[in-house]
Amino acid sequence: MKKVIVFTFFFTIVSTAFTQVRKEINIPNIPGYLTLKCDFHMHTIFSDGEVWPTIRVQEAWRDGLDVISITDHLNYKWSFLKEYVNSEDGNAPYKTAKLTADRLGITLINGCEINRGMPPGHFNVLFAKDINQLKDSNFFNALSVAKAQGAFIQWNHPGYGQDEHLEWFEVHERLYKQGLIQGVEVYNQKMFFPTAVQWANDKKLTITSSSDMHQLIDMTYDKDTHRPFTLVFAKENTVESIREAMFAGRTAACFENQLVGHSEYLTQLFNASVSVIDLPMIIENKAKYIEFKNSSAIDYELELYQKVKGVGLPNKIKLNANSLTLETIKPNNTVANQESFKAKYKVVNLKSISGEDIIVEFTFNKLGTVENHPYKKEKYPEVK
Ligand SMILES: [Zn+2]
Ligand SMILES: [Zn+2]
Repeated sequence: MKKVIVFTFFFTIVSTAFTQVRKEINIPNIPGYLTLKCDFHMHTIFSDGEVWPTIRVQEAWRDGLDVISITDHLNYKWSFLKEYVNSEDGNAPYKTAKLTADRLGITLINGCEINRGMPPGHFNVLFAKDINQLKDSNFFNALSVAKAQGAFIQWNHPGYGQDEHLEWFEVHERLYKQGLIQGVEVYNQKMFFPTAVQWANDKKLTITSSSDMHQLIDMTYDKDTHRPFTLVFAKENTVESIREAMFAGRTAACFENQLVGHSEYLTQLFNASVSVIDLPMIIENKAKYIEFKNSSAIDYELELYQKVKGVGLPNKIKLNANSLTLETIKPNNTVANQESFKAKYKVVNLKSISGEDIIVEFTFNKLGTVENHPYKKEKYPEVK
């Protein structure tokens, strides 16, 4: 008996010790593309971060991400770490994290952050083939080599070293003209750079949003908040496919329950997230119930865009993540007798790069009787 108790106790400890939970972020795919959740900017003890690279992979798995890049500086380490972590291999963060990434299904992108002799901001190099070739002290040379390797180059935290009026410096113009900037980070850690969104629109740059994490991720984002991340709309979850999507500008920056991106992708994302459930029209009190089903991890905030003649519609609707939201609309008799009618809403927390409003349209159907209630159509499966 004692043995059984000891064994059970031991087994319980061992089995719970290996239980880890991945907090899934439900963001639907859009037509033709997977929606991948990515963080392309973070550090480890191979530069000025505080963790070993495999920790970054495990954090990403727990945070529900699909893709990460570890982007250590090439020329900078904490002085006290230099003595103990003295590898000169620029690919070391990638190589040491790859096995864990493969085990956990996280796609790992080889990258680094170049900051030697920089103007304001640093540069992320993603999809590099060999980071060791990028150690040239002249950053123009380093970025030219990165370009020759087929890498994607982005201006990180463009507000770094600037006041609130961000400037696109002459050096950035030179880099841009030489094809050495493809993207810009519009959100870094807890900072948003609206001017960078404007540049992205004017210069056709790809936007990203990143944690730039140096310490443990939980030290900055607790269980109720999520790190900023980039959505990439890719044909497949492969390094090459993600690279193709980044060069094509198919991304959205996701932070603080806001999404910034091209209006076509944001509209598709909303339509894939939200559907309308028409409940029976019961005319007696002139009210029709509608349920909005939001199957995504994003809370959507809606504002009525245009009044619809003959229907009282709510001016504001909040569609909480992974929830049904019940609203009442009040059609007059004419509208109530139509088979369907439409209403347009502006999605307040979706921001297009071009600055245009994101407008979505709902179709409300008449539907029939209580017996036709959509929830009553489901039958219990037969027991065999
Ligand atoms: Zn930096
Ligand atoms: Zn950084």
